[in-house]
Amino acid sequence: MSLRFFNTYSREIEEFEPRDPAERKTGIYTCGPTVYSRAHIGNFRAYIFEDLLQRHLELRGYKVHRVMNITDVDDKTIRGAREANIPLSEFTAPFKQAFFEDIETLRIKRADEVPAATDQRYIDRMIEMIGTLMSRDLAYQADDKSVYFRINKFPAYGKLAHFDLTQLQSTGRVKHDEYDKEHIGDFALWKAWDEEDGDVAWESPWGRGRPGWHIECSAMSTALLGDQIDIHCGGVDNIFPHHEAEIAQSEGVTGKKFVRYWLHCAHLLVDGQKMSKSLGNFYTLPNLLEKGYTGREIRYALMRVHYRAPLNFTWEGMEEARQALARVDEWLARLRETANGKIDNRKNTTAPGQQFEEALDDDLNISAALGFLFESIRETNRAMDQNEMDAATANTWLDWWGRVNSVLVIEEAPAELPAEIAKLGQARLQARLAKDFQKSDELRNELSARGWEVRDTKDGQKITRRAGA
Ligand code: AMP
Ligand code: ZN
Repeated sequence: MSLRFFNTYSREIEEFEPRDPAERKTGIYTCGPTVYSRAHIGNFRAYIFEDLLQRHLELRGYKVHRVMNITDVDDKTIRGAREANIPLSEFTAPFKQAFFEDIETLRIKRADEVPAATDQRYIDRMIEMIGTLMSRDLAYQADDKSVYFRINKFPAYGKLAHFDLTQLQSTGRVKHDEYDKEHIGDFALWKAWDEEDGDVAWESPWGRGRPGWHIECSAMSTALLGDQIDIHCGGVDNIFPHHEAEIAQSEGVTGKKFVRYWLHCAHLLVDGQKMSKSLGNFYTLPNLLEKGYTGREIRYALMRVHYRAPLNFTWEGMEEARQALARVDEWLARLRETANGKIDNRKNTTAPGQQFEEALDDDLNISAALGFLFESIRETNRAMDQNEMDAATANTWLDWWGRVNSVLVIEEAPAELPAEIAKLGQARLQARLAKDFQKSDELRNELSARGWEVRDTKDGQKITRRAGA
């Protein structure tokens, strides 16, 4: 069975086929953070969903190339720099760094490319794209000197959000500075400089100014992934106007369908409301680490509900995540012990199938995938309780776990080995290489007496703490 995703554009589950099915290359663009403050864990729900998506595609043999932009110029970053009375780049730098620290703690794969909007290369591309839109009558310069996209000239505008433009006209709020526009829904491509911008400005054919947020993503995505992107992700709040605008700008320039699959995740909520900076109901990652939760526990807590279902953040939820991971840890320790066991004449128990992967093939059905994981843990624990699992079967389960963990990435990182244990391990390795099996067995026993288990795997010797030791 192939992979299937819910495409926001069609509002349907669609079979996934990348642009280049033979090579299985898959280009993914994800809207990254606006670096005016530390991201909150609501933002990280979106990035963890995207990480799950990438890792599952990779497990299924796709070669993912992912781009995540950094929005380091917009109203909020400019305001922050002004208030701190420092240059924009100095203001955004620590938040960029904090973001990379946080994704590492959460075991989120860093995107292959992380372009910043203020990079001159992309500013040039934004200006070039706006020029093309102007030449096609899809954009105009208003009396306030800003350049706007003319949505009336792009009939598909509103298709992603399933939005009726006439409604927008009658219900849209009119702000003072927007009287210059032809249509209330027209959005800024280039914002003319004003005093509030201080020294944040670039030259353009339309005068000094700065890009609008939407054109930043159109420029960086098409520059790095080409005219057509396989998958574009973000949170549901990005659908309108941000992604709608990205489509209008990109397709207005290239004339080609911009994105094949649009995937959006539902929000992380607190008491039924979106976790957000503006509501003040947010936690950052350091807030949770200070309370004693680990990166993998937070990762698990944010990942365990289907990405299209809202997830309520609660402390009970954090405790459940902790307990779930403790069960996994305990199970793995037992399984490793069994895999190391000498007894080979026990009854064979069921070997793992493909249910975990197949659940994720189905629009990343994480609840079903985790359900299968814990069901398997229950069954294999029962077999081990009754001494019914042999070493070979335990090894098959460990191999299976390797696949599962390549997507979930929730296994406890191996702690550094104490020096004397590492030394014994090295000596055992040497003995094995010298084919001195008597010595290597003695050293294994020595390690075991000290509470450490040795396993010989295809990736070499693995030393782990024995269950209960
Ligand atoms: P921002 O920095 O506000 O542009 O947000 C970065 C990403 O986080 C976007 O993909 C948003 O859609 C997403 N996001 C923001 N708040 C939440 C939330 N409470 N739950 C899930 N995703 C969110
Ligand atoms: Zn974006």
